[in-house]
Amino acid sequence: MTEQTKYLLDESKLPKAWYNINADLPVPPAPVLHPGTLEPVTPDFLSVLFPMSLILQEISTERYIEIPEPVREIYKLWRPTPFIRARRLELALDTPAHIYFKYEGASPVGSHKPNTAVAQAFYNKQEGTKALTTETGAGQWGSALSMACNFFDMDLEVYMVKESYYQKPYRRMMIESYGAQVFASPSNRTQFGRALLDEDPDAPGSLGIAISEAVEAAATSGGTKKYSLGSVLNHVLMHQTVIGLETLQQFEMAGEYPDVIIGCAGGGSNFAGFAFPFVHQNLTEGKTTQVIAAEPAASPSLTKGVYTFDYGDAARMAPIVKMHTLGHSFIPPSIHAGGLRYHGMAPQVSALVDAGYVEARAVKQLDTFKAALTFLRSEGIIPAPESSHAIKVAIDEALQAKESGERKVIAFNLSGHGHFDMTAYDAYLHGELEDYEYPAEAVAEALHQLPQAMAV
Ligand SMILES: *Cc1c(COP(=O)(O)O)cnc(C)c1O
Repeated sequence: MTEQTKYLLDESKLPKAWYNINADLPVPPAPVLHPGTLEPVTPDFLSVLFPMSLILQEISTERYIEIPEPVREIYKLWRPTPFIRARRLELALDTPAHIYFKYEGASPVGSHKPNTAVAQAFYNKQEGTKALTTETGAGQWGSALSMACNFFDMDLEVYMVKESYYQKPYRRMMIESYGAQVFASPSNRTQFGRALLDEDPDAPGSLGIAISEAVEAAATSGGTKKYSLGSVLNHVLMHQTVIGLETLQQFEMAGEYPDVIIGCAGGGSNFAGFAFPFVHQNLTEGKTTQVIAAEPAASPSLTKGVYTFDYGDAARMAPIVKMHTLGHSFIPPSIHAGGLRYHGMAPQVSALVDAGYVEARAVKQLDTFKAALTFLRSEGIIPAPESSHAIKVAIDEALQAKESGERKVIAFNLSGHGHFDMTAYDAYLHGELEDYEYPAEAVAEALHQLPQAMAV
C-alpha cells in the first residue's frame, strides 16, 4: 500500500458536477463594473461577449453545477488525470515530507486549459455561436480553445502576443493544425491594434493588448462572434475544479490528506481549480490545509499589487473587476513563464488572499528553473515554466519539513508540461537566463491609471 506511486481513477469517477466557490465565499463578491460608465454591468452588456449560460454561471451561487454529458465525454479523452507520489523527489531532497502532484500535462495540448475550453465551446455551440475570438500569450490557451472549437465544429480567431508569435512558433502551428486562425497582436484587424501599430510598428504586444483586440473583434462582429477568456473569470475557475475534485478522491485512495497545497497563479485558474475543493473543506469541514498561490516575482499581482477595481484589459474595453492588480497598463517583463504574465488576478482568488484564506508567494525566475531541473531529474516530467513556480514552493516546503523533522503532506498542481519551452531550458542550461527585478517604477506608474472613480 505505502509503495504505491500513481493513483489512477477510473472513468466512472470523473466528477459529474463542478464546484462553485461562490456558494461558500466568506466575503460577498464585489460588483462587476461597465468599463465606460463605471456602473454595475447588465447581462445585456455581457451578452455581447458571452453566451447566457456562461453569464448565469458567472453569477451563480449554486454549490454544484452539473457537467454536461458531451463535455464529460470529451474530458474522458484524458481525464481523470494521474495523481502521483513524487517518491524519487522526496529521496533527492532527503525529506520526511510526502510530496504528491496532480498532472494536468496529460491533456492532449499539455495543460489544464482544455478543462474550460471544452466547456466554453460547448455552451457557445449550444446557443448558436458561429465563431469565437480569443487571445493567447505563449499559446497554451490558444491551442486548448482551438482543439475545443474543432471538436464542436466552430471557427476561432486567436490574437497571439506578437513576441510569442515569432519566438514560439510551435504553439502557433499547433493552433493552426486544429483549424483556427492566428494573428500576431497588435494586428491591423482591429482599431485598437491599428492605433498601437501607428505609434510603434514593432510593438511587441502584451496579454492585455491581445485581450482588447479579441474583445473588439467579438463586440464589433454584429453578434456572429463571441469572446472567450481562458482564466480570471468565475466560470473559468469553476470549470477547472474537476482537478481538485479528482484530487480529493485520489488522496482518499492514498489514505492521506494534505497539510499544504500549492498551485502557480497567472490569472488564477489552475490554482483555483486545484485548491478550491480543498478551501471548501477548510471552510465547511474544519480542515486546516495551508493553501499557497505561487506567482512570479517579476509580475507579482498578489504580493505587490493593490486590491482594487481595475480593467481586465489594456484598452479598457473589458469589464472592471475587483482584484489584486499591478495596473491594466503594466506590461510585465519577458519572463519565460508567459502564462503568468498578466496584470491582475481572478477576483475570487484575490478575495481569498485579501481575507487571509489563501497565502501568496513570489518566486524568482532562476529559482524556478533550478527547481524544475531538480524535479525533472527525479520524476522525469519536464514541467512548464509556469508550473515550476509551484514546484519551487513545494520544494521549499519539503526542505523546511526536513529541517523541522515534520512528516508533512505536500501536494502541488503540475499545470502543464514544458515540451514547447525548451529554448527557455536551453537558456538556463547555458547561463543565459536572468532574474528580473520587481519593476517597481513601472507598476507605480500603471497604478496611477486605475479607473478614476475607484482610485485608492
Ligand atoms: C496558462 C497557464 C498557466 C497560468 O494560467 P492560470 O489561469 O493562472 O492557471 C499556468 N500553467 C500553465 C501550464 C498554463 O498553460
